Amino acid sequence: MMQIVAEAQRPTLVIDGHHAVISNGRFLHMAHCCWCRNAFHVATDDGTIHMGIAVTGKNPRWYEKETPGGRPEAPAVCPNEACGKEMPRRHYYWYTPSPVYLARDLMNEAWTTIRINHPELSGPADRAAGIIPA
Ligand SMILES: [Zn+2]
Repeated sequence: MMQIVAEAQRPTLVIDGHHAVISNGRFLHMAHCCWCRNAFHVATDDGTIHMGIAVTGKNPRWYEKETPGGRPEAPAVCPNEACGKEMPRRHYYWYTPSPVYLARDLMNEAWTTIRINHPELSGPADRAAGIIPA
């Protein structure tokens, strides 16, 4: 799993006011081998994360939408060496994919920048989210 992450290209972050877009992000998708039940991960590239503060009327709200670049496909054989069985090409249950740490760093940078530049929105958005008392 760490190998997959290390090979990922660095995503790009563009902040426009209280909106941010992270492009070219890698996502890790997890499923279980149908034989040994061990988890395996498959990475997809070119994922996008839209995030920031949406303002509807007088109600600023934090939002975050993560969109992986594609659907994962199970490996031909189980990556667990003790198993190594051929994987059937059937539907796997994929858990919610998560962005790798390169995108996580940029997400933190975006949250911080938006908080600094837009305290008039982040305060109400934090109260709406229950992060700070209403
Ligand atoms: Zn297996």
